[in-house]
Amino acid sequence: MVSMSEQEVFPGRRENRAIRDRKRKRKITIGVAAGVIVALLGGGATVWAVSNQPAPEIAPAKPKPKPTPTPEPTPTPEPVIEPAPPVYDVDTPSSISVVVNKQRSLNPIDWAPDDLVTPEGIPNVWGHPLRAEASAALQQMYQAASDAGVPFTITSGYRDYWLQKDIYDGLVAQGGVEFADQDTARPSHSEHQTGLAVDLFGAEGCQLSACFGETATGIWLRDNAYQFGYILRYHDGEQAIVGYTYEPWHFRYVGVEIATAMHDQDELNLETFLGLPPAPTN
Ligand SMILES: [Zn+2]
Repeated sequence: MVSMSEQEVFPGRRENRAIRDRKRKRKITIGVAAGVIVALLGGGATVWAVSNQPAPEIAPAKPKPKPTPTPEPTPTPEPVIEPAPPVYDVDTPSSISVVVNKQRSLNPIDWAPDDLVTPEGIPNVWGHPLRAEASAALQQMYQAASDAGVPFTITSGYRDYWLQKDIYDGLVAQGGVEFADQDTARPSHSEHQTGLAVDLFGAEGCQLSACFGETATGIWLRDNAYQFGYILRYHDGEQAIVGYTYEPWHFRYVGVEIATAMHDQDELNLETFLGLPPAPTN
């Protein structure tokens, strides 16, 4: 008997196996394809998610631990010193900032400076001296005024107590106390007794008159005297404070520091600048 192959014997079974094999392959193929798609989708989703996440913050570098500093001795704090306002001596007769007015007299009443000199090179009607510092400053001012075309003449400088007493008493005899007080200071109350005050006039005239303030010399002195330490002492309209009517010829030496400060502050009156009360009357 001829042996027959199994296929021949069981042709139906062979066919069935082939179908099964094809189906199995197809399953595998489908499974692999699905796996690839899932992988792709999943991977894409991952990429999408990553690209939409905020940029990860970069943690700041941790500061390196500082080396333990060598303990230094605690510095003693500098004491805070408030700049005190300048204190000027307004009482001592020899102080260049002494203040004499109708309320304030020199003490002693017949005080006289010991450093009087006659200014050199300046026309001087009575030859009156001034204190050395005021005289030197006046000489500089005279040079500057001459250079500006407005040289001046000294009418009056230092007057001692007795001369001032003679002037005042003469005016009282002439017109009474009220009349005298309007025109001149009582003895020991005159700035001329300090040796720091000077009366000036120029080529235009107006000697000891209010019109001197309108002359070129008067205007130059009013505007420039501070540079040499002088101030116009009795301005127009300040009688309620300084006690005197306008005297555009009367200049007082107070030193460049005070004179410049008053100029820079537009301060007209020495009393106000130094914090002293007004002195309208005796
Ligand atoms: Zn005067």
